[in-house]
Amino acid sequence: MEPFIHAIIPALILLGIFPKLDKKYIFFLLPLVWLLDLDLYILETHRFLFHNLIFVFLLAGIIYLIWDKKAFFISLFYGISHLIFDLGYPGVAFFYPLYQKSFFITTKIQRTTEWILDFSFGTLSTEEYAQFAMDEGISTYFSEQVLLIFLLIGIILIIKYRKILLHKVFPKKFKNIHSSKK
Ligand SMILES: [Zn+2]
Repeated sequence: MEPFIHAIIPALILLGIFPKLDKKYIFFLLPLVWLLDLDLYILETHRFLFHNLIFVFLLAGIIYLIWDKKAFFISLFYGISHLIFDLGYPGVAFFYPLYQKSFFITTKIQRTTEWILDFSFGTLSTEEYAQFAMDEGISTYFSEQVLLIFLLIGIILIIKYRKILLHKVFPKKFKNIHSSKK
């Protein structure tokens, strides 16, 4: 999945579900979601090295040692959310290096002349995964999906902060309104 989606969705989930959570946890730890994808630059053929639960726990453990327990759980959440988002084909090797296979799910509901429901799951060996990576050879870093999410968030933020924005654009007009109220 694309880097921005890896970051935006879990950050918004935390902001939405835990509004009282100190924002510094949410934002300072956010780059961890990108750290997991760096394994591709170490081993070009597969994403097993960092894309597994052992690495995620190890990472969260290090964060716990240098920060605190809350930071540990946020790191864990970011790591696991990354793994879940990567579950689409060719999947994630959750238990690497103990179990060297990736798990994936594919699911689709399509309609042509009739409805097609497709749900399947399976595993790939390191070799199969490497073969897929070589055949495909494409990593998408930014697409219209991310652009549209940004667009939507932008529109909502403009609506929410419209008064402050108008205040900045027409400072004099708003000054009068405030003074006339008094
Ligand atoms: Zn990934």
